[in-house]
Amino acid sequence: MTKYSDKKNSDMTPKSKTKNAWFKFFYVGGTYDIFSEDNRRVFIINLFASVGVIFCLPLGILSLIDGQVLLGAFLLFIAFLYAINHVYLRYTHNHTLSGNFVIYPLYLLMIYLVYSGGVNGTGHVWIFCVPAVSLFLHGMKKGMIELGVFTLALVIIMFFANNHFSEFGYDPTLKSRILFAFLVVVFLSGIYEYSMSRFNQELKETTAKLKLVAYTDLLTSLLNRRGMLQRLEASQYTSFHLLLADVDFFKRINDEYGHDVGDYALTELAKLIQSSLKEGDLASRWGGEEFLIATCNCSEHEAFEFAESIRERVAEHEFVYLDQRFHMTISFGVATMNETTSLREAITLADSHLYNAKRSGRNQTRIT
Ligand code: GH3
Ligand code: MG
Ligand code: MG
Repeated sequence: MTKYSDKKNSDMTPKSKTKNAWFKFFYVGGTYDIFSEDNRRVFIINLFASVGVIFCLPLGILSLIDGQVLLGAFLLFIAFLYAINHVYLRYTHNHTLSGNFVIYPLYLLMIYLVYSGGVNGTGHVWIFCVPAVSLFLHGMKKGMIELGVFTLALVIIMFFANNHFSEFGYDPTLKSRILFAFLVVVFLSGIYEYSMSRFNQELKETTAKLKLVAYTDLLTSLLNRRGMLQRLEASQYTSFHLLLADVDFFKRINDEYGHDVGDYALTELAKLIQSSLKEGDLASRWGGEEFLIATCNCSEHEAFEFAESIRERVAEHEFVYLDQRFHMTISFGVATMNETTSLREAITLADSHLYNAKRSGRNQTRIT
């Protein structure tokens, strides 16, 4: 995950500071996952609300000066609503409600403009901004339904209501052209929204797959070293025990039965370890035939007993591959990460305790 404001302010040039400020402004209320669909919507809400304030505020004042009190009040109300919306989004992160604050007043304003004619019968020229905002904020399905209802309202106002369209003598051909042009914009915005959300979806899936590959060991399906470190560093536990296991005389298995049998033995061992874990424990393939387990919510003695139970289970297990049958043992080094021992120090300690277990004859667990 990328934090868009990660860069320290002091490391930035004035140009990148300005860029970062704009970025923060338009993504206010978003999440740290820059690829998320929600973030795209948050960006569009902020962008559209800002444009809305920039347009509605002066147009509202001009309308009031012109004596069009209702239109002026409507525009100023929308400018106020959009400005408040930015603050609301910043504190609540509720982009669904915030999107509604943006889109529904816009529909009402457009209906009012088309009905009343706005300034000298030009009100309808603004309707072309509706499809993009509607589809970007509410997505394909809801956006299309709303645009369908909006188009119906347009048809009724333009062809069946007695208003400025008849007053200004709009030709039926011109009215149908306005409507047709609006539908073309709906269609094009729909294609754009569809391709953008497909692209975003594919990007999300690819990112998830890449993360899985980067953090998982392909042979055993356990976490790999990178994945384990990432999980341990991100853990909220301030204290846990590390159990580092290494297969005893594993070279002999490879030499005697072949590399494929060695691979099978590692997979089977991973299953034995995985099935021994308690809720909240983590297991990883730390390297070749080394496995690192992390366990918490227990004393050091209980962690030792836990390592011993896995060691005994492995020692008793018969590994069977085609017509080959054999036994394997593992040695454990156990260490504790806590307020006084960092993760790196605990890993080094577990490694040195494992070395002691090997030196003392293997098939045993050492906490010193
Ligand atoms: P020790 O008791 O001292 O640990 O003896 P060992 O034979 O296990 O020695 P060591 O840990 O140094 O040997 C690791 C061996 O594991 C060497 C390597 O060929 C083998 N190995 C590492 N990764 C794999 C793997 O993915 N598949 C197979 N089949 N063998 C592997
Ligand atoms: Mg070994
Ligand atoms: Mg080894």
